[in-house]
Amino acid sequence: MLQLYMPLHFLGFVYREIKHSLADMERMFTLLEENKEIQDKSEAQILDAKNAAIHFDHVNFSYEPNRQILFDVSFDIPAGQNIAVVGHSGSGKSTLARLLFRFYDVQSGCILINNQDIRDVTQQSLRTAMGIVPQDTVLFNDSIYYNIAYGRPEATADEVHAAAKSAHIHDFIETLPEKYETIVGERGLKLSGGEKQRVAIARTILKNPVILIFDEATSALDSNSEKRIQAELKRIAKNRTTLTIAHRLSTIVDADQILVMDQGRIIERGTHQQLLAINGQYARMWELQRQEAIHQNVQQNLTIS
Ligand code: ATP
Repeated sequence: MLQLYMPLHFLGFVYREIKHSLADMERMFTLLEENKEIQDKSEAQILDAKNAAIHFDHVNFSYEPNRQILFDVSFDIPAGQNIAVVGHSGSGKSTLARLLFRFYDVQSGCILINNQDIRDVTQQSLRTAMGIVPQDTVLFNDSIYYNIAYGRPEATADEVHAAAKSAHIHDFIETLPEKYETIVGERGLKLSGGEKQRVAIARTILKNPVILIFDEATSALDSNSEKRIQAELKRIAKNRTTLTIAHRLSTIVDADQILVMDQGRIIERGTHQQLLAINGQYARMWELQRQEAIHQNVQQNLTIS
């Protein structure tokens, strides 16, 4: 209903702003129902997403003319596997997720799911197949129940509660003044980064998508929350086709394959062990993060003693 009351130019503004952020993609499609720049073909098919296998085939992409962002990117995510993408800030990691979600169309090459070009399927069937756990979840100014149920609006209350339990947020919700009816979001109760991420996880568990996109938070949660969230993510990713955008290499050491991006190109690929053996950029990033972790531990021990 919201769009009926919002002036169109304002929607355009919101759309452009939010388009920059992977975090809000799912939310945005609920607001606008469809992306006006990306249209379904008249003969668009329903995506057959069962056991989704994803293939990026020689993808080139730019947001604006004269500034190419992705260069000849090809990779596979076999059904049920987890592929992690790492690389410096701005190397193009989130762009891969935006293209998979078909927020934009590629300039050349193609993206296939089970051999269907994503430009040939309905946007609705494509997005129903995907769940995103974003870096920074933006909650609706509505009840926490609504914020979880929005993953699958027709879900029963029992299913919503079960999803919240799986995401380890149910007990917390029970302590809130109005429990599941507590209003959260900008104008309601503010939740911590970890709590918001759990809401996103509960929403995704409820949606039960075949394909998962995880955008790891850059701002570190405290290490206990971080470990628990990582364990939950691992559990829901089991047997689903998963694209993980990672900032901390320690969270993706057991990914089936790791892609290392640099300035829009995949420069290395392999398992954690294979990439360490190559002794290239990944090995350097690993060493740097290891040193940082040692430094942080020393600092923490100094603070404690
Ligand atoms: P980070 O680790 O900081 O999240 P990233 O590797 O995910 O970075 P992307 O968000 O994919 O990087 O961005 C790749 C490049 O595309 C960057 O140079 C960025 O400035 C540019 N870019 C991203 N979104 C847009 C946009 N909507 N319009 C124009 N350029 C964009």
